Amino acid sequence: MTESRPYTILDLLTDQSESTQRQLLASVEKKCNGETKSNTTVLSSALAESGPLSSYRTVVSQSVVDGIFKTKCRLDEAGTTDFLVVTTRIMKKYWEAVCFLMFSHVHNWSVLGVDVRDQSTIIVPPDLTQVETSIKNYLMSLDGSGKVEIIRSRIIPCDMFNAGFHTRQGGISQLPPLASMNMLHTIRKPDPLIVIAENRRRLAVAADFDLDLLNVARTEHGKKVWVMGRDPEPPLKYDGVITDVPGVVVAAPGADCCVILLADTRTGACGAVHAGWMGTVAMAARETLRAMVDNYGTDPRHVHAAIGPSVGGQCFDMPISDAQVITDLDPSLTWPSERKEGWVHTNLPGANAVILQNEGVPKENIDLTTALCTACNKNMFFSHRRDSIPFGNQLGFISCRKR
Ligand SMILES: [Zn+2]
Repeated sequence: MTESRPYTILDLLTDQSESTQRQLLASVEKKCNGETKSNTTVLSSALAESGPLSSYRTVVSQSVVDGIFKTKCRLDEAGTTDFLVVTTRIMKKYWEAVCFLMFSHVHNWSVLGVDVRDQSTIIVPPDLTQVETSIKNYLMSLDGSGKVEIIRSRIIPCDMFNAGFHTRQGGISQLPPLASMNMLHTIRKPDPLIVIAENRRRLAVAADFDLDLLNVARTEHGKKVWVMGRDPEPPLKYDGVITDVPGVVVAAPGADCCVILLADTRTGACGAVHAGWMGTVAMAARETLRAMVDNYGTDPRHVHAAIGPSVGGQCFDMPISDAQVITDLDPSLTWPSERKEGWVHTNLPGANAVILQNEGVPKENIDLTTALCTACNKNMFFSHRRDSIPFGNQLGFISCRKR
């Protein structure tokens, strides 16, 4: 078994003096020790058509941030996660700051700062406090893939609430299963927080809400609810979030799981809840609605609800015993799976509609037309069932415009 070496990224961008470049290249070649050079990408300001660099993969760029973003995207697609950046000692801290922001938990990275002799030009290391801003500005300047698309429910009055679901279009996440509007940073996705923040910024612009007032549920497939205003700090994990403050945006992520938006048309209180099969069985939607009743005086008869894009019953099955609670709600919500003995197809959006109706929300106030199947509509939505890991997440969001 050969020992796996990290993938090398050679920085020939930040010090372009010939002497420095020669020394950095020598240090990489020494490490390669005659092995294939396919394990190295050179960041350079110009394509090397001849000379010692010509046998390396080169990413041509005029900026480190652009160079590392392009390199990372290519290597993410190849599934490469271990990186070693080779640069000069004076640029080491800068590179560490860049890598910290641009890589995620799936990546293992380190920076080697090589001592170079006879530096012919004086290199002033970039201001580290500016690294984050320069990356943000760069990501902001990228063309999104397509246009941000927002699906709005006709049942939630739009003069009173700003509510909707978005599709996977319009963001900057590059890895195909996350492309392009991935809204969630997790330990299994190569999207760093700063990319998620840019995707969320684009949603805020398109949907016309204040990004600083966006609160996305930190889901755990349970039924805990963060009552904003009552609990100053959110629980560590929670699937429902509610508010009665105009302008505050509450949201929940999904990729097959239902995201349900609740709008109290009398008080302006609103909520968002994430319910996959576990959250549906745990009655997360009921808990969220009850939290609105208990804390904001909501009357379920005035609640309008939209159930967002989620996996349709024809594309989703689960063990018959796990689905019993749902079958008990209404036997037509489950039916035998032809794929697996002892499993049943389960209509999760329908189940959540029944859960809300049982709490007193009128049937005609519940919008299921927004519950498009995530698994069937590959160009529109992320789907865990369809894409396996990693997969992207879309959001459902709601805020009250006025009371
Ligand atoms: Zn489907």
